[in-house]
Parts: sequence; C-alpha cells; structure tokens
Amino acid sequence: MNVTTEVLRLPLRDPFRIARREPDQVATTVITGIDLAGLRGLGEAYPVAYYGETTGTVGAIVPLLAEALGQLGDPPANAPHARAWLSRATEAMDVVVGRHGAAKAGLDIALHDLVARGLGLPLTELLETPAQGPPTDFSIGLDEPATVAARAARASHFPALKIKLGGPSDLDTLEQVRQVYDGPIRVDANTGWDPEAALRLLPELQRLGVELIEQPFPARALPRLRWLQERSPLPIVADESCETEADLEALVGVVAGINVKLMKCGGVGPAMRTLRRARELGFKLMLGCMEETSVGIAAGAAVAGLADWVDLDGNLLLADDPFVGLELDDGCRWITGRASGLGVERVEKSVDKLVD
Ligand SMILES: [Mg+2]
Repeated sequence: MNVTTEVLRLPLRDPFRIARREPDQVATTVITGIDLAGLRGLGEAYPVAYYGETTGTVGAIVPLLAEALGQLGDPPANAPHARAWLSRATEAMDVVVGRHGAAKAGLDIALHDLVARGLGLPLTELLETPAQGPPTDFSIGLDEPATVAARAARASHFPALKIKLGGPSDLDTLEQVRQVYDGPIRVDANTGWDPEAALRLLPELQRLGVELIEQPFPARALPRLRWLQERSPLPIVADESCETEADLEALVGVVAGINVKLMKCGGVGPAMRTLRRARELGFKLMLGCMEETSVGIAAGAAVAGLADWVDLDGNLLLADDPFVGLELDDGCRWITGRASGLGVERVEKSVDKLVD
C-alpha cells in the first residue's frame, strides 16, 4: 500500500477561540491517502498540540504506522471479514505507538474509505451503523458577547448551538445569545472555569436553557468534576478528560457524559468501540470533532447514530472546504449512505499548501 500525506492550511470563516488557547485563524490539517490495487482511500489527521500532536509528529509517525499496516496483507473482499481486518489494523497501529490519535485516525479513516469503496458500500453499511444520526449542533468561539450573539443569530437554523465559554463575559454572552436563539444551548468551558465561578453560574445556566456543560475544569481535575456533577442537574461532559477508551472507567461516577472524537481516539474503529463501551458504562454520549474538512466529518457522520448529541461541524467552520459530497439535510443531520466509502471527493481549489 502506498500512503501519502499533504498538509493543508485552510482559512476559517470566523476566528475560532476557546478558553485554553489563542484564536485560530486557519485550520491546519493533514489529508492522507492510501492507494491499493487501483483504489484510493482518503483520510484526515487533524493534529491538536494540547494532545501532543503537530503536523510534524503526524508526518513522523504515519510512515511507522503504514509499515505496520503493510504487514497485514490486503483487505478481504467481503464485509464481515473486512470489518475484522479493520479491527486488526487498529491493534497493529496501537502496538507501534500509544496515543497519537490524529496520526492513527489519518490512516484508519483512509482504510475505512478504501475498504468500503472496494466493496461498493457506503461506510455506514460496511460498519452496520445507523444511516442517520442526531442533528449536528453549530459551535461558536469565544468573543465579545455581541459578536457571539450575531453569529448565533446567523446559525439560528441549527437545532442546538455550542457556545464556547471560559472568559469574563460568560453570563452576558449567554443572555445575549438567548435573545436571538430559542433552541438548546450547549456550553463548553474548555477547562477555563474555577469551582466558585461554575457554582455561581449553575442556576443561571439552567434559567437560560443550557442543555449540558462541557469540560468546566482541567483534564485531570476529576475530584472537582465529580464535585460539580453532584451539584449540577445538568450533565457535565468530559472532553479533554477523555482521550481514548482507556480513560472511560475512571470517569464513571464522575461525569454524566463524554465527548468522543475520532482525532483523540484514533479514527472510526476506535470511536465506535469507545462509544459502545461508554454506552455500556452508562454515559450519555457526544460525538465531537476538531476543525476537520468534510473528510474527517464524513468519517464521524458514519458513527453519529451511536451518539446522543452530535457536534460535527468542523467543516462548516471553514471558509472554503476543499472536499465536496457531504451535505446536511433540512434538519441539520449529515446525510450518509448515498455513495460508497466516505462519499467525499476533492475539488481542486487554490489552498495554501505547506511542504511536508
Ligand atoms: Mg470540547
């Protein structure tokens, strides 16, 4: 198998700021390709420095992972055997290196696309996952309250909004958003609150129709998360605290929900496994994303039917997604199952390419 990587720098529609880092003006992502027997699978690795990944680490690790995958032989030509082969691919990559979920996702997604295309099946049919998941919400970064409210008004056709918090104007932001938007609001503090601020905000969040609170405190502050969940009628959802399936057990009794992302856990296969294990453990499930193109989002959409809350909007935050084929229906659900594989194709546009 021949593996390629290409780093893309894609301007965002609006600057995207969260509590624990400076605003992003561009999304920097790695598009992967796997060519085998005349077929090409597309994948994506979106590295996030917080989780120890950069375009540099992805570029260094992908060849090592590809070498391990090369030992597996060609994928089988029927769906059940191909699913088992894809699980072996996950295990083979986990043996090479721990963590590095984005690098692994780059290859895992490309393999899923390649295998499903080879079988002529949409990815949901290969995986036997529901063809339709819950609608996606739309995320709005930290900014001046009036700016956030203006963006909320622009996104008011989404059935839920995710508002990034963790700044001094959190309450003002939510009050102003509520004036222009009637639906459920999900808030994400990205580790930016302290316990006193969180406790003070709690009744206001309920009053303002907030549906859930994502990652109020730092990733490892599990006792603090448990303390807030015990006082909160709203579910607390662990994102930064939960990278992979291995983190789930420690969160039982700590938070009500977890946010699974392909780029944290290593792609479609690990995300499916994590969602199923988390369901068994009694968590409410969010499926989230980074600022991926339609490649990464289509991969997520294939397992969205396993989640309760879907936050798959990375491609919608891009000014100009270089991939086409993935579309929302009138209810803001990603449409899957219309084409084989991921169902997305590259459109040639002038993007700011980096040299690997
Ligand atoms: Mg989050």
